[in-house]
Amino acid sequence: MTYAITQTCCSDATCVAVCPVNCIHPTPDEPDFGRTEMLYVDPRSCIDCGACADACPVDAILPADRLTGPHAEYAAVNAAYYADREPEPATGPNFHAWGAPSFTRSLPSDFAPIRVAVVGTGPAGMYAAEDLLLHTNAEVTLVDRLPVAGGLVRYGVAPDHPGTKGVGDTFSRFHSHPRVRMHLGVEVGKDVTAEELAAHHDAVIYAVGAAADRRLGIPGEDLPSSIAATSFVSWYNAHPEVAADAVDLSRAGRVVVAGNGNVALDVARILVTDPAGLAGTDIADHALAALRGSAVREVVLLGRRGPGEAACTASELLALKHLPGVELVVDDHDPRIGPAIEGAAPGGPAALLRDVRRERVEWSRPAGEGRRIVFRFHSAPLEVIGTDDVAGVRVSADGDAARIPAGLFLRAIGYRGLAVPGLPFDEASGTVPHEGGRVAGLSGTYVVGWIKRGPSGGIGANRTCAAETVGTLLADAVAGALPSPAHPARAFGRLVRSRNRHAVDARGLAAIDRAERSRGRAGGRPRVKFGTVPELVAAARGRR
Ligand code: NAP
Repeated sequence: MTYAITQTCCSDATCVAVCPVNCIHPTPDEPDFGRTEMLYVDPRSCIDCGACADACPVDAILPADRLTGPHAEYAAVNAAYYADREPEPATGPNFHAWGAPSFTRSLPSDFAPIRVAVVGTGPAGMYAAEDLLLHTNAEVTLVDRLPVAGGLVRYGVAPDHPGTKGVGDTFSRFHSHPRVRMHLGVEVGKDVTAEELAAHHDAVIYAVGAAADRRLGIPGEDLPSSIAATSFVSWYNAHPEVAADAVDLSRAGRVVVAGNGNVALDVARILVTDPAGLAGTDIADHALAALRGSAVREVVLLGRRGPGEAACTASELLALKHLPGVELVVDDHDPRIGPAIEGAAPGGPAALLRDVRRERVEWSRPAGEGRRIVFRFHSAPLEVIGTDDVAGVRVSADGDAARIPAGLFLRAIGYRGLAVPGLPFDEASGTVPHEGGRVAGLSGTYVVGWIKRGPSGGIGANRTCAAETVGTLLADAVAGALPSPAHPARAFGRLVRSRNRHAVDARGLAAIDRAERSRGRAGGRPRVKFGTVPELVAAARGRR
């Protein structure tokens, strides 16, 4: 029996570091690392010790003989990666005992502790903080503009992906670390300036992600029921900046989504999943209620290119194929679609569409009673039609245009980084210019995650990204290139309290966590989130 890595793989290589026989690849020191959709266990070398499964932060590794349902195909998926690869030698220069990839970054033992502020408590910020705390004696100040930690783990990962959310437990171990100070609900650029933050620390790492969404720039995009998928994701995840009534699902039988990346698949899945299946998750109460009364029966995923260029990962599409009570259909409106699917190389999303029904969809008919997701390729959105609200979407079609009636339009065309006050910003890419994570022209200032490399890649990609940034920072520290802080460590806490009396610290965060978990207990849910800033702040004070 061997183990196999499955759908929720976050590719952060925690498993690689604990494998005693180096049977998980690609490792961070192999060229394929970061280029494959996931990591794979080599069934020829796996010794079935389970060390990887114990270490996996997202519960993605399972015994291959116990894979069922949507996971059933992963034994073959893992094995296929090694089909034309030689087994790793058990000795020799390329064999690392205990498989340990080199994540070694440290400071000389006689180096005085440095103080590093990390702005943003999502995956990128927390991998950077973890790296500093595990490998150096640095003191870390965690800052987040929301009064609760987690970033995209809390507000981006879909509620029906609890395994992926499990990585949050790995990060939360560091929230109460003795060398961590936490200031949540504090916005850099509003409550404190970037200069003030820098003046209290040896270095500042910005891990602020990509907080905005991209726009299509087409007519009708601002109609009330035309919204960014990122807002829809925030809505079902109880983000305090999206109102409970921001989405109306009572009207639309059909929803059109622009884009077919993993965010598009997330929103499509949530829209057509039987709400009973979501009732045991941490989905926002208002979203669960809206989904229970939802009129939505059909979601159309628009790809502006063909099946071979679908932006989703194969693992997420595979999961969609196993969604109970939901039919997948490919709209066969263009002669290029069939051959692209039939001729697709194995392993990618297009090949997974081979056994999906293809039909020429008649859009003038209203959505039927059964729940279904339609993939429509070679169709870019040209206009959101409607006067007071969305009535449909006009899309390009084989040199012509087609009209798809719909009552809700979601653009899932990617996130976009926002400029950070005091930092340079590249408008075209929505990122901060940097060299190995060091912000161009600003000593002691660093970036990590999506604000550094753009909004792509899953959670685990941030681990190697953080390793690079922390490596650069530590090299700068050793080279004496960090500016000395003008103020002592405790002064920053005083400054924050003088500016914002609602700031939440680690104890407040723990109180929120306890209160949310306790709210969830009665309904058998992992937690019921507080959905507004006042509620979060009150819970932090033990008043909820
Ligand atoms: P994405 O993967 O970049 O997909 C964006 C989609 O929008 C693509 O289909 C793209 O088409 C399309 N698009 C972009 N501009 C367009 C335009 N002007 N008109 C029409 N279509 C347009 O972005 P995402 O879905 O937001 O995901 C962001 C990252 O988060 C990805 O790396 C994703 O894998 C990750 N993520 C992972 C998970 C998960 O693992 N479960 C969940 C959510 C997000 P083209 O390909 O033609 O440009």
